[in-house]
Amino acid sequence: MYRKRKINEKLDSFYSLRFPYTLERKSKHRYEAVVGLGGNVGDVRRRFEHLFVVLQKDKQVSLIKTSLILKNPPFGYKDQADFFNSILVLKTSMQPKVFLRYLQRLEKKFGRRRSFANAPRTLDLDIIFFDNRKINTKDLIIPHPFYSQRESVMIPLAGVNA
Ligand code: ADP
Ligand code: MG
Repeated sequence: MYRKRKINEKLDSFYSLRFPYTLERKSKHRYEAVVGLGGNVGDVRRRFEHLFVVLQKDKQVSLIKTSLILKNPPFGYKDQADFFNSILVLKTSMQPKVFLRYLQRLEKKFGRRRSFANAPRTLDLDIIFFDNRKINTKDLIIPHPFYSQRESVMIPLAGVNA
């Protein structure tokens, strides 16, 4: 149920009913967060679809937009499967730290086990932007460091802002 479009030798994009997507009504929540999602273990696109349904039902957030899904090779630790990445735009009234914990609970729910940096993962949820805030604490850096150097973020993000 995906249309596939080749971007170049290394990158493919995938399109479905829910990716990309735009909500047609207003949200009552206060803040807008841009979240990067990624994974490379098991059926990642199916997990993204499941996450979409979970978020759509959750009153704590409004799912405003999603991007296409990008398939791209791993960086850092390279001996692992290709990654699937996408972008979610969510509205929430949670503060950033609380929102980070919320995302970490979702990672857990979707089977994430923490091992080492850049290791294979079922679901990674990173906060890229949170309104226009700048945060620089031990647990939370916003905007997400290096996002602008990663095509796994920049390519999906380009379509969301268009
Ligand atoms: P990575 O996403 O870098 O591969 P993890 O998902 O395991 O690695 O995250 C490691 C830590 O990054 C988390 O425990 C979290 O506290 C911290 N972190 C810092 N800034 C952010 C952010 N903007 N979004 C998500 N996690 C962040
Ligand atoms: Mg992360």
